[in-house]
Amino acid sequence: MTSDHAPTVRDLMAFYLEAGVDCALETEPVDRLSAPEQPIAPPGEIAPAPLRKPPNPAVAAAPRAGIAPPPEIAIESAREAARTAPSLEALRALLDSFEGCALKFTASRLVFADGNPQARLMFVGEAPGRDEDIEGLPFVGRSGQLLNRMIAAIGLKRSDVYIANVIPWRPPGNRTPTPQETQICLPFIQRQIELVNPDVLVTLGNPSTQTLLPTREGIMKTRGKWFDYDTGTRTIRAMATFHPAYLLRSPSYKRMAWLDLRAIARTLEVKALEAAR
Ligand code: URA
Repeated sequence: MTSDHAPTVRDLMAFYLEAGVDCALETEPVDRLSAPEQPIAPPGEIAPAPLRKPPNPAVAAAPRAGIAPPPEIAIESAREAARTAPSLEALRALLDSFEGCALKFTASRLVFADGNPQARLMFVGEAPGRDEDIEGLPFVGRSGQLLNRMIAAIGLKRSDVYIANVIPWRPPGNRTPTPQETQICLPFIQRQIELVNPDVLVTLGNPSTQTLLPTREGIMKTRGKWFDYDTGTRTIRAMATFHPAYLLRSPSYKRMAWLDLRAIARTLEVKALEAAR
């Protein structure tokens, strides 16, 4: 269908929003059509510095602006920073000042965690969405509400468990994080798990499962199975289950998620009995 009037700014904004573009990356618009063509670096290689766009001083001065270092350097400095964090508060402070992941510069804020840092049960999702980016807390949107109900189904409250994501900044437009972004953020979530030290770790959906557990299989095959998650100092029982966002789209899988939650609850009971002995 074609319209007989020129699009208004409102029409264009609505078009962008529908396409997932819901935040501005720079304060000034850039006319990419009139910019000179730049050779594209082969996969895995970083374009030599002169080929990258020179920083716009106006943008550099803005509080959310920044240029992340090359991925290998960022991964190494993430490992170093995460290793030195003696507590969850220190880890949060380190992440807050970490400039190695470009997602930090497009997100509104860090989404570190929610819940009880002494929890025996920890959930890890993929990355914050729009609602989480606004509130600075993981799983507060529609999938968060379903996660709350999943937690309630095993007799716990959100404040009894600890909730985090592999990636602590919202990817623009909720796009899938790149493998490089995931690798850069990985040492932080690994240290977060080690510091929380739960009895049971639950990965929600494919991305967090394949990032944290030793499997390349899809969620249909991995869900409901027990894995050993090695923190380096201890082994934690870990299980993958469906991401609540997936369950919202495919409610028929809630029955399987319920079975997973029952198994998780039973393991928590056994661990509590062992600890009481
Ligand atoms: N999806 C996630 O994986 N994490 C959140 O915090 C919200 C939605």
